[in-house]
Amino acid sequence: MRASMMDLVTMRETPTNAVAKSHAFMLRTGLIEPESAGVFSYTALAVRSMLKIEQIVREEMNHAGGQEIRLPVLLSADPWKQTGRWDSMDVLFKLEADGTQFLLGPTHEEPITLLAKKRIRSRSQLPQRWYQITPKFRKEKRPRAGVLRVREFIMKDLYSFDADAKGMDRSYDAMVRAYWAIFTRCGLTTLFQTQADSGAIGGDASEEFIVPASSSAGECEIVHCTECGYTANIEKASCTIPPWKEEALNPMEKLHTPNAGTIAEVSAFLGVTPERLVKTLIYEAKYKGAQTEVFAILIRGNLDVNEVKLKNALGSECISVKPAMIPDIEEVTGAAVGFAGPLGIQCPILADGSVVGIQNFVSGANDTDYHFVNMNWGRDVKSPDKVVDVRSVRAGDCCPRCTNALEAYTGIEVGHVFKLGTVYAEKLKATFQLADGSHQPFWMGCYGIGIGRIMAASIELHADERGVVWPVAIAPYHCVVIPANLAKHGDEAGNIYRDLCDTTDVEVVYDDRDFSFGVKIADAELIGYPFIIVVGNKGIEVRTRMTGEVTSLLSLYEAVGMVSQGVETALYFANSNAH
Ligand SMILES: [Zn+2]
Repeated sequence: MRASMMDLVTMRETPTNAVAKSHAFMLRTGLIEPESAGVFSYTALAVRSMLKIEQIVREEMNHAGGQEIRLPVLLSADPWKQTGRWDSMDVLFKLEADGTQFLLGPTHEEPITLLAKKRIRSRSQLPQRWYQITPKFRKEKRPRAGVLRVREFIMKDLYSFDADAKGMDRSYDAMVRAYWAIFTRCGLTTLFQTQADSGAIGGDASEEFIVPASSSAGECEIVHCTECGYTANIEKASCTIPPWKEEALNPMEKLHTPNAGTIAEVSAFLGVTPERLVKTLIYEAKYKGAQTEVFAILIRGNLDVNEVKLKNALGSECISVKPAMIPDIEEVTGAAVGFAGPLGIQCPILADGSVVGIQNFVSGANDTDYHFVNMNWGRDVKSPDKVVDVRSVRAGDCCPRCTNALEAYTGIEVGHVFKLGTVYAEKLKATFQLADGSHQPFWMGCYGIGIGRIMAASIELHADERGVVWPVAIAPYHCVVIPANLAKHGDEAGNIYRDLCDTTDVEVVYDDRDFSFGVKIADAELIGYPFIIVVGNKGIEVRTRMTGEVTSLLSLYEAVGMVSQGVETALYFANSNAH
């Protein structure tokens, strides 16, 4: 391709609205153009990369027994009402035409379960693994970080149908293997597979594939143990609390603590560490059927509540949790905000495991400006009977498996796999027949990969201060040929370009634009061609973008051979590492 004929528009400056590295570089290289908040057009350069990613995904899905299908994007509302997600998922784009309700597919569990119901009659037809690579729509309230949190995106979603739990596990394991192969081939060399919260998809178990990224791009936090390999999303992670050291029990006292309503103020006023405080937080839970409940959660003063873990601890009937309103807090405590405690509070109590075993602790007295000190479980206040794990896990906390200190990362979720069990099949009455004539619901799994996210994660992982650094396998083009001076070196550069086109599989751009050498080389580095061939007064040189290596004084044939071999080798190693 001649650069003069390409849609090539780059920016020297970082756009002010782009905080994430990948967002900034995707705008500067002209890979994307914003359409509206969270909606982008992808330019020719981006589509070349996306098609390569899609092809890798397709090959690995087919290799793992997947069959490609295409479901509609415009979906009937009824099945979503049957599963309850019409009301419970707040990201649905809902439409109406001639009095009939529709939605734009955010994911496709409902329609594919109904498709399976129509097509799979007997056990002998199982297992089936069906996938598609299509646009998805989610009404994100706050789109951010370029293509990372968006309202329209391309996703590969595969759904597995099996006869029993064992079959579902086999499909799940096959997909996990395929995912590692995909991400390896795409050059996502640093990757974590973590336990995750199932969120709106639901089901028995789920894991995410996370690429570490700068905090401005990362949208999820994970913790990782380098000792035993434990890895979990922060919404799922747990940590071990070191046991409380036995001490002699002191008599409880109620102390005047004027204006000390926060953990820091109380600790400072009483001269105790926050670890000795039992923090009492008042929350309101919303349950299915619009029922709400105000309750207290007890946690160590130095720890925080993770609200996703709290919601999950309340069971599947709970839709959401949020801190209670001030009047509700005052009603259950009979005091101003900041003085809540377990003794005498007028609402149900949940306790995080961190407060179990604690002795001579401090808590609010449910009396404005008063705290209890030297409070003890059993003696002064009933031991909490509902103990849960809702604490936020942070870097340095103890690994729940081996007690080594955990490390924390922010990252980009590039894939998510779920064991759904029979939940969708039961709700949509999708069954198959056994030999004895009885009917069983399908055991399902679902497996998503964001195509744009792989592109963004790759940029986050490999880009340097000069621009994008593409792994060969997903680069829009493999190579650019730049004449240092078009009039002087154009003929020779043109010969190299034609030789690469005619005799190799290298995808090459010839930068024949009437720009200065400085502009062209800056563009080449910004766009991130894996190989840059420069033809100048000092002969021919090949620059390798990923390593920064420069090889000079080459003949035309040496340069062509080097790039062609470089591309071939990179693709070969990406493939052989993946399988
Ligand atoms: Zn560990």
